[in-house]
Amino acid sequence: MARDPKFDVLFEPIRIGPKTLKNRFYKTPHCTNFGSDWPGAQAYFRAVAAEGGWAAASTEYCSIHPSSDHAPLSSGRLWDDSDVRNLSLMCDALHEHGALAGVEFWTGGAHAPNFESRMPAPGVSQIVSDCEWRQSCYEMDKDDIRDMQQIYVEATRRAIRAGFDIVNLYGGHDVPLTYQFLDPFYNRRDDEYGGSFENRARFWLETLELVREVADGACAIAVRISMDSLREGPLRLDNEDVCRFVELADPLVDLWDLQIGGSILEWGQDTLASRWGKENFQKPWHEMIRPHTTRPVVGVGRFTSPETMLAAVMSGQIDIIGAARPSISDPFLPKKIEEGRTDDIRECIGCNICAGRVMQGVLIACTQNATAGEEYRRGWHPERFTTAKNADRNVLVVGAGPAGMECATVLGRRGMHSVHLVEAEPEIGGIMRWIPKLPGLAEWMRVVSYREYQLSKLDNVEVITRTALDAEAVLSYGADIVVVATGSHWVGDGLNGVTHEPILGADPSLPHVFTPEQLMVDGKAVPGAHVVVYDVEGYFMGVGLAQKLRRDGHDVTLVTPHSQIAPYTFFTLEGWQLNRDLHAQGIRLVAEHLVTEISPDRATGCHVFATDHTVSWEADAVVLVTQRASDDALFRQLRADPEAREHAGISGLYRVGDCVVPRVVAEAVFDGHRLAREIDTDNPAIPLPFIRENRVLGASNLDYDLTVRTADGVPVHLSEPRRAVAVER
Ligand code: SF4
Repeated sequence: MARDPKFDVLFEPIRIGPKTLKNRFYKTPHCTNFGSDWPGAQAYFRAVAAEGGWAAASTEYCSIHPSSDHAPLSSGRLWDDSDVRNLSLMCDALHEHGALAGVEFWTGGAHAPNFESRMPAPGVSQIVSDCEWRQSCYEMDKDDIRDMQQIYVEATRRAIRAGFDIVNLYGGHDVPLTYQFLDPFYNRRDDEYGGSFENRARFWLETLELVREVADGACAIAVRISMDSLREGPLRLDNEDVCRFVELADPLVDLWDLQIGGSILEWGQDTLASRWGKENFQKPWHEMIRPHTTRPVVGVGRFTSPETMLAAVMSGQIDIIGAARPSISDPFLPKKIEEGRTDDIRECIGCNICAGRVMQGVLIACTQNATAGEEYRRGWHPERFTTAKNADRNVLVVGAGPAGMECATVLGRRGMHSVHLVEAEPEIGGIMRWIPKLPGLAEWMRVVSYREYQLSKLDNVEVITRTALDAEAVLSYGADIVVVATGSHWVGDGLNGVTHEPILGADPSLPHVFTPEQLMVDGKAVPGAHVVVYDVEGYFMGVGLAQKLRRDGHDVTLVTPHSQIAPYTFFTLEGWQLNRDLHAQGIRLVAEHLVTEISPDRATGCHVFATDHTVSWEADAVVLVTQRASDDALFRQLRADPEAREHAGISGLYRVGDCVVPRVVAEAVFDGHRLAREIDTDNPAIPLPFIRENRVLGASNLDYDLTVRTADGVPVHLSEPRRAVAVER
C-alpha cells in the first residue's frame, strides 16, 4: 500500500546546516543505559529505528570528559578514542539505512557524581545538587571556563571522527553546564558569566561559536534547550530569557531540539506519563519559541498519530517530528505511515517503564515493544519473524492477557499451522481490560487494542472467548503444543513481602475487605465512606485505587510500609506529580506504617513500623494491594501428568507471563514474545543465551562487525533477520 498523499509533507527532506534529513522524523536523544559500554546494543537499537524510517537518531546524553561522569548509570561517553571506536558502530549502522547520527554532549557540574572518575566537578557556582545526594562542584574561574570550552572542542573532533553528523549541545532540563550558566537557579556569579541575561548566556554562546568553528561544516550543530524550567519563585529562568537566547544563538545553530522542564528530578514533566497528557502536549511552548528562530525546529510530545504530526507540521508549530517513546514503542512508525499501514502503528501507552528501567540503572525495555533493547543481544527484529522449524504444529494458548496475546501474535507471525488463543472471559486482554479503567490509565488499553487488531489479521490464529478450559479440556483439545498464560490475582489475605505473612483478619469474603479485582471487576459495593487502601506493592495499583475511590466520593487513607508513597513511580517519573495529585485530592497519605490487623467490625488496626507505637483507623473498608499470586493450577495439573500429555499428543507444555511470576506488564509481554520466538528450539522453556557485551580476560579481539551469526552460525548482515547467540569478533 502506498501512503496517503496528504502525508507527503512528512517525507520531505529537511536541510540542517551542512546535512540533510531524508524526512521529518527524528529519533531524539533518549536514555537507554547502553551508552558507550554496550556498543552493539547501542548500534542495533538505533539502527532498527533508522531502518524503520527515522531520518536521524541520537545517542543519549554523552559525557565528554571524566569530570562529568554519571556512573553507575551508563551515559554515552566521548572521553577518548576507545569511545570513538565504540560509538562509530552506531554511526555506521545508521548510515547503512540513510539516517544521520547525532550525539548529545553533556557536562554536568554539580549533577555529575563522578563516582568512577573521582574527579571534582567543575561547575557554575558552588551550590549542592538538588538531585544528586550531597554532590557539589567548584566554581570555575575564567581559565577553567576556557578549559571546559576546549573540552567541547575536543569532543567535537572526536564526534566527527566517530562519524556523527549532528553534534547537539545539550541544554535541556538543568543537567548540562550550558543551561546551568543561563539559569539563575544555578548561576550566582558576579563576573561576566553571571548576573545579567547577556552574561549568563555568554558561556553557551561562546562554546557554540568554538564548536561551530571546529565542526567547519563536517557536522550540523543542534541545541537541545528547555523552553520552560517550570520552576516557581524568584530564581526561575524567565521564558522570555529562553526566547532571547534562541534569537541570539540562532545564527550559530542548525537545528533547535525543544523540550520542557527544569530539574532533572522532574524529568517526568518532559517525559510526561499518559495519565497527565495526551500527544502533542508541548504545543504551547513550541508556539512560544517558533517566532524567535529561522532554523528548523524539532519538537517532541509523544506523537503517535500521523494526523497530529501532520497538523503540527502544517501549522508551522514544528518542522520535524521528534520522538523518544513513540520510536521505542514502534521503531517502524515512519515506515508504516509511508506504506499506508497506519493501523499497524504500535502506539506508546505512556507508562514510562522505558525510563523506569534507565532510572533503575539497567537496560531499556518497553511495555508495547518486547524487542526494544533486544535487537542486538537476542537478534530480535520488531517487524520480521522467521518461520518456525516446527511450523506444522498446532498450538493452544490458554489465556488472552498480555502474555497470551503477545505469544499468539508472534506464533502466528512465525507461521505455525494453527494457533488457538482461548479465553474464559467474554473479551481478551486479561488484566489490561480493567487496569486502564484506573484514573489516567486509559491509554494503557493500547496493549489490548494493538494486539487485538494484529491477531485479527492472522489467518492461522483463531481467538476464542467465553471458553474456560480445564486440564481435561486441554488434553482433549487436539493441540501439539500448549502454552498456559492464565495470569495471576491479588491475594485477599494480606500476604506481603514485608512480613511474609497474611494480615490478621484479612478475608475478602467479608463485606469490608477488598481485593483490587473485587473493586474494579466484580462490582462489590463499598459499605461506607472511609476506605483504607493498604499498598505494599508500591507501584500504580494502590494509588490508582485510592484516586478512584476518592473520585467516587470516599474519604480515603492510603497506607504504605514504604518510606515514600508508590516508590516505583519515582522510577517511572510519575512520583512527584502523583504525590502532589494525591495531596490535592485530599487523600491522607501515611508512610512507614504496617497494617497488622483488620478487625471483624470494620476497624483496621495498624502498627507503626519498627516502633511500639500503634494506631488504628475506624474505616468502613480496607483494600489490600499487598501482592499477587500466579494462577498456575492448570499448568501444574498438566505438568504433573506426562502420560496423559503423551497420550493426548502434546509434545510441549509451557507457561508464560504472570502465571509464572506476576511482574509488570512489560515482562509479561516479553515472556510471551520470548517463548514464541524460541518455540522451535531444543527446549523453549529455557531462554537461549543472549550476547553479553562483557570484557573477557584474555580475549584477543573485541572488535564488532556489522555482520553477526545466527544460531546456526550463518553470517547475517545487520539489516537481515537473525537469531544470534554469538557475535563475530
Ligand atoms: Fe511508551 Fe511505555 Fe514503551 Fe516507554 S515503555 S515507549 S512509555 S509503551
